[in-house]
Amino acid sequence: MPETEPHFTSLTKFYTLQLLKDGPRHGYEIMEELGKRIGKKPSPGQIYPLLKKFKRSGLVSQKVILVGDRKKKVYTLTKEGALAATRMMESFSGIVSAILEPKLTKCAHCGCKVYEGGHRENIGGKVMAFCCVHCARTFKEMKSRK
Ligand SMILES: [Zn+2]
Repeated sequence: MPETEPHFTSLTKFYTLQLLKDGPRHGYEIMEELGKRIGKKPSPGQIYPLLKKFKRSGLVSQKVILVGDRKKKVYTLTKEGALAATRMMESFSGIVSAILEPKLTKCAHCGCKVYEGGHRENIGGKVMAFCCVHCARTFKEMKSRK
């Protein structure tokens, strides 16, 4: 079956795993939450095949619980699923910051916005941006005092 909305699908995939990281959810709750987060509520035709796929690949387990006198299917993240969610989050935030960072550079010390130029320094293996060398120096001094 061809994927008609690959971008939306991967966002849905991403958010579904992140959501389940907070605790077990019903399919209906997942759709509602995703609607709030993505701004577009996925249809049952999108979410249930996805959950099925997650289940098949061992990322999610399914349980039927009794709520009052109604049976409800609840999806829980497995250990593998939690790992996948974390990995996805890491690569996702890597992509996001790679896109946003050059535009939204803030001085790591004083917090003022650095549009161009500024000063970059590798501190503890992480390249950090500062508005000037003085801020970088103060930052390093404060860090070594901790
Ligand atoms: Zn500064």
